[in-house]
Formats: sequence, structure tokens, C-alpha cells
Amino acid sequence: MKSWFAVCLALVAACSDSAEPSKTPTAATAPGGAGNDWNLVFLSIDTLRADALGTYGSTLPTSPTIDALAAESFVFERAITQAGVTSPSHMTMMTSLYPTVHRVGNVDFVIDKAKESGDVRRLARLQLNPKVQTLATVLHGAGFRTAAFTGGGNVAGEIGFARGFDVFDDARDNGMSANDGPLFDATRARKWLAANSKSRFFLFLHTFIPHGPYVPPAPWNTAFDPGYQGKIVSDRAELARMSPDGGGKSNYVFWSTATPSEPADLAHLRALYHGEVRYADDAVKDILASLREAGVWEKTIFVLVSDHGEQFLEHGQFEHYGRLYEELAHVPCIVHVPGRAPTRIAQPIGTIDLMPTLLELLGQRVPAQAQGYSLVPLLDGRVEPRPIFSETVLAWNDIERPDKPKTPARMVRAVRLGSWTYVKNEEPTGVTEELFDRTTDPTEQRNLAADPTHAKMLADLRELSAKHANACDELMPRYGADATVELTPETVDELKRLGYVK
Ligand SMILES: [Zn+2]
Repeated sequence: MKSWFAVCLALVAACSDSAEPSKTPTAATAPGGAGNDWNLVFLSIDTLRADALGTYGSTLPTSPTIDALAAESFVFERAITQAGVTSPSHMTMMTSLYPTVHRVGNVDFVIDKAKESGDVRRLARLQLNPKVQTLATVLHGAGFRTAAFTGGGNVAGEIGFARGFDVFDDARDNGMSANDGPLFDATRARKWLAANSKSRFFLFLHTFIPHGPYVPPAPWNTAFDPGYQGKIVSDRAELARMSPDGGGKSNYVFWSTATPSEPADLAHLRALYHGEVRYADDAVKDILASLREAGVWEKTIFVLVSDHGEQFLEHGQFEHYGRLYEELAHVPCIVHVPGRAPTRIAQPIGTIDLMPTLLELLGQRVPAQAQGYSLVPLLDGRVEPRPIFSETVLAWNDIERPDKPKTPARMVRAVRLGSWTYVKNEEPTGVTEELFDRTTDPTEQRNLAADPTHAKMLADLRELSAKHANACDELMPRYGADATVELTPETVDELKRLGYVK
């Protein structure tokens, strides 16, 4: 009989089987049947930690709407993102390819390098390979009307996110960003819905609401820490006045007013973040009401997910810089399927699994490229435990070192298997490893990599990680981005406001 570990290795090896034919749903595995007429609404709330929501255990009143949605949906209790930053995480959700395969990375590093060198051409960045199919291209090809309204920045159209959409709106005034500018106002998305909801449609919504700077509107700016008397400035207008270019650097100004070593400031930063989450919950209420008003709720699959969490010094940092610890890797994933009873699913999954799952639920063919697994068997109660891989490429060599193209220059890899987490940090200066047992250490504070008691577990997970990396390396020449595109001024402006460009 095969050991559990051998089964995992076989599963990883299967990921690289590029000869696998397209997977067509069957009546037995597609609830609602392959001929259903369901729509899809996919909402990504950027930077939303799972544990900031009531349905994932928060005791704070951050999420009444999302909790009510979860109570009538599938709730994946252990959803793990495949990357710790925005672009690769979202592109993995849209393509079901791992970040080291599609290669669409975050933009911050590239732009900072460009600023240093003064070479504006360095603003160009890798663009999704045209051979890769996305959730939008598949559904568009199947006759769906398709539209996306995003916060832009690292979910900008020009790097490949626009592919397959009839309408891709990532303009700053589309109401979806709401991190430091206009309050959330999805008017344009609602108009599109009103005009297109008689047809079968796919609507992708993305908002940066909980992303820094944390500037929730009243009453959420004071609701979670009403007695605060410190110096943190969280008023949008005030930050815009303090910012040298009219708000363009508000995230830097916001953080400059905080003194994280002060316990009161640390508590207030968390409270402001929770205020943002509560504000995002209001946005969800607005979106759900729009779908109900349009009369499409009963035949629409609705997904609420995030691309990564946020750090509050759990591992010495704030915000998110690509690390893959629990506070960043564990994201909410709630899927409402018409006519299906609410179910909480404890089995770990990856957000890479969403694309094949949603296509199967919609009765569509899953492209052979998909590295994730359809979760439809899991929805039906059939459990197939497997390791969950995450990887954040912090820099590609062909950006930093043209003599070594198409390999990561700096990256973080993680594997979660059962209660164990293995992390491998690869830097030009060397490789470090971490091993955590979440049974006794749920927040991954005690690194057991040097503990001889766990040498076998360390070796097994290291081998799993290496086999996964090899499988991705084999697929990358076929699907990896190999052309660059210059960012639009609007995208660069949004990245500045989010703090990615100094
Ligand atoms: Zn993000």
C-alpha cells in the first residue's frame, strides 16, 4: 500500500503531465448539469485576512454581510493563496497556473529599479503569454458576456488581466479602488450588469478596500478603537493634504504617522484595518443587492475570495511583501452555488483550484493547462487530501540579470501538508528553510527546521517542494510570459497610491 507521502509525490508529478487532454465535465460531477445557464460573479477583496471575518473566527463585528453569505454558501475553511502579492496571486486564480509557470509578477520591484536607473523602459513588465487561457477567455469563447471592474495597479489590464473581457475597466474613477480616493461606488459595474444581465455573463470585481493606507470612512474609522488619542492620520482628506503630490503618496504618509513600537499605535493600525474590512462588508452588501435587483441571484455562482492577507508584525513586518506565513497565505474563500446546501469544508484547498472548479460548475471545458484541481468532488463530499504549494517570486533574473533569463532571482516557496508548513527562502545570498507545526504553533512562530526530531518531516517536505518546482519548470517554457508591456500612466499612478512606487 502506498504511503501518504508517496501519494503526494505522485500527485505533484501528475501536475506536469502536459499530455493530459482537456477535462470535460460530466453530469455526475457538474451540479446543476453541464447544460445549466448559470452566470458567474467573482469578487476579489484585496488584502483580506481570513481571520478578520466572523465566519473564519473573528469575534469582532467586521463582517455581518459576508457572514450571512457564508451561512448559505460553501465555505472553504482552509483556502491558501498561491502567492503572497497581488499580480501573481490573481493571475493564478484566473489561469490555474502557478506563479512560476505564468510568470506575471508584481510591479513594485521593477519600478523601483527603473527609478534607480532612470531608465523608463524598465517600467515595462512581463505580460501574460497569449497561449494561456483564462477564466474570461474560456467563458467569452463559450458566449458569456464578460466584464471586469478592478482597482487597477497590480490588477491592471495591460499585463494580461484584460484578456477575454468585453469590458475591462481599471480606471481610477470606476469606484472599485476605494483605498484612499473616492468611497466605494460601483455605479459603472451596476450599469453594465443592468445592460447585460439578460444574457449569460461573467463579472469580475476587484477592490483594494482593506489595502493600505487604512482610511475607512466614518463610522468605521473609530468603531474598533474609539478611545485612540495617538498621532496616526487616517483621514483621507488630511492624508491628501499632507501628501506631496495631492494624495499620490498617501500610503507612505499614512505609515510615517504611525509609531509601531507604541502598543497603542499597533492596536490602532489593527483597528483601522478592521474598519476597512467592515467597510468592505458594506461594499459586498451593495454588490449582492445589485445582483438581487437585477434578478440574477438565483442563477449566479458568486465567489468571494482574497489574493493574500496582511501582516501586523507577526513575523516582523507590516503589509505584504511576498512572505507566505499564515497571516498572508490563509485567505477567505466563499462560493455560493444556486440550489446547493451550505457546507463548511475543512479540507485545505488552493485558490489555484477556483478556475477548474468554476468552469466545471458552469458546464464548461477545463483547459488542459490547469494545474489546480476541480473542487466539485469535494463539494460532493469526496475528499482527496493533498499538499498545498505557494510561491512568491520577488524578482525574475531576466529583469535583474539578463544573462540568466527566466529563473527566479529571489523567491519564497511554501508547502502545507496536514498540520505542517515548510518555507524555503531563496535569496542571492543563500537559502534558508523554516518548518512549523501548526498543531502546537498555529501562527508559525517556532522554526523547527534545525530540530533533529523533525528531520524526516523536513526532508519529506523539501522533496515535495523540489518536485513541485521541477514540475513548474517543465511547464514554464510552454506557458510563461516572455514579452513585456509598458505600464500606462494610470497604472503607475495607482501603484503609487498603494505604496508600491516611491
Ligand atoms: Zn493584493
